[in-house]
Amino acid sequence: MINKEEEKTIYVWGDSKRYNSQSARLKEKYGGRVQKVSISADFTCPNRDGSLGTGGCTYCNNDSFTPNYTKISKQITKQLDEGLGFLKVRYKRTAMFVGYFQSYTNTYGSLEKITAIYDEALSHPDINGLVIGTRPDVTTNEQLDYLEKLAKDYYIDLEFGIETTNDMTLEDINRGHDFASSVDAIKRAAGRGFEVGGHMLFGLPGESRTEMLDQVDEINKLPLNSIKFHQLQIVKNTVMAKQYKDTPEMFNLFSREDYIDFVIDFMERLRPDITVQRLASEAPPDIKIAPDWGTIRIDVIQNQVEVRMAERDTWQGKKYIAP
Ligand code: SF4
Repeated sequence: MINKEEEKTIYVWGDSKRYNSQSARLKEKYGGRVQKVSISADFTCPNRDGSLGTGGCTYCNNDSFTPNYTKISKQITKQLDEGLGFLKVRYKRTAMFVGYFQSYTNTYGSLEKITAIYDEALSHPDINGLVIGTRPDVTTNEQLDYLEKLAKDYYIDLEFGIETTNDMTLEDINRGHDFASSVDAIKRAAGRGFEVGGHMLFGLPGESRTEMLDQVDEINKLPLNSIKFHQLQIVKNTVMAKQYKDTPEMFNLFSREDYIDFVIDFMERLRPDITVQRLASEAPPDIKIAPDWGTIRIDVIQNQVEVRMAERDTWQGKKYIAP
């Protein structure tokens, strides 16, 4: 039985979802879908260009999250035109399009450089905001001041790769920063009028399911607006692909069913006001090695999470204990 207090928690989001869905929140706020248009800009990554390292994070192959229309080095405006060309047809009821800087580290560079890149994207007549993915250790206060100014006129969402709160794991996967860097960046970015998000990666070697789940307590302490969940996928041309081949016993990859229950367990303990932007990710089949979840699409997994939440009669924050 759901008591009155619990009922209030479910329906406080104003829709039928059992978790605080970011897309539903944005739909409410802007009167329709907010659609990202991916952009590859002239950014690299300190973990690849030699500043921190050259090998990158052990799981990283940027091809796994870079759409084709952004791959060839093209002007940002041209990439946006091409992306918008098919997204406008596919998502007819979109209220707003925003540029999505996803690949590499999109605050890695001088203020002049990032200003020129972001301004070019925002000068496109169909673009009303930016979503910027980055590492926590390369975001300066000057850049944050600039984003704060942009946020007065545009939708801005700055997303940090946290991946895990466990420093030993961060070292093992060669992230080149610790969890304290994420805490610091998120705190510096918060309260400036733009969205602050975090990425988590579940299934990293060395972390038990219980240890991963307990990380939610650290996440709940952060001034985050939103969070994305990703299951670890082994993709070609990565250090992890070699580790997986040589020592498969060090991996405990999620099956689809286990993952669905795991993200639900995590959301049960997640602060209710943190919106969930993504429940799982999908590497292109031609570069994915494992796990094999079949050809199932992400939106189907989202539906399965909702069905399973109903079966379990649970919702985001059900087990959250406010400090
Ligand atoms: S995951 Fe991000 S930080 Fe790590 S190597 Fe790839 S681009 Fe760089």
